[in-house]
Amino acid sequence: MSKETLLNRQFTEREVQRMRNIVTKKTNDRTHIQAGYESNIKRNEGDIWEENGKTWTIKNGIKRTVSKMANFKQESIMPLCCPQCNEPLARQSEYVKHIYKLMHKCPKCVAREESDLKLQGKFDEYALKMHAQNHLDLLENTEKEFDDFANNGFEKFMTENGEVETWDGKGLTPEQIKETKQWIAEQKAKITTYLS
Ligand SMILES: [Zn+2]
Repeated sequence: MSKETLLNRQFTEREVQRMRNIVTKKTNDRTHIQAGYESNIKRNEGDIWEENGKTWTIKNGIKRTVSKMANFKQESIMPLCCPQCNEPLARQSEYVKHIYKLMHKCPKCVAREESDLKLQGKFDEYALKMHAQNHLDLLENTEKEFDDFANNGFEKFMTENGEVETWDGKGLTPEQIKETKQWIAEQKAKITTYLS
């Protein structure tokens, strides 16, 4: 069996999707909305305020602590220019962002290097590595989403309209959280072993 077939069998996107579905199912599991609660303190998208010793903001209509937002911003930071060729990076393009996050260079540099690898007959090896790296990236994103969900899923959220939404914990038990985290860790370990 070729390495690629083995790899595909071990880490199919379907497996990642399966985990995603667990999260999504829970995400839709809002129990009720208390309209008008805390409506005297109306918060808007992007507002930052202190409450219970933490700094809060509203991002995409959901109340979050600012430290979480700061981490998120740091992860998605992209320089103004490609570190390799110094060409400006188009900040508005999701495609450029995606390539930069994976490769830390612009798509043109990636394309140039890939043609060089093809000429040198090293492209197949490189493609397999990128394939695995992509899966690892996907898993890490899913893990972040899941952690964020598991950590925040039982809190009250205030929407942009000043409504408070309560999320109940019926959807996920501590065992399910543990199981899911274990599954992600196993998949990550498999890919890391393959990449090393
Ligand atoms: Zn470049």
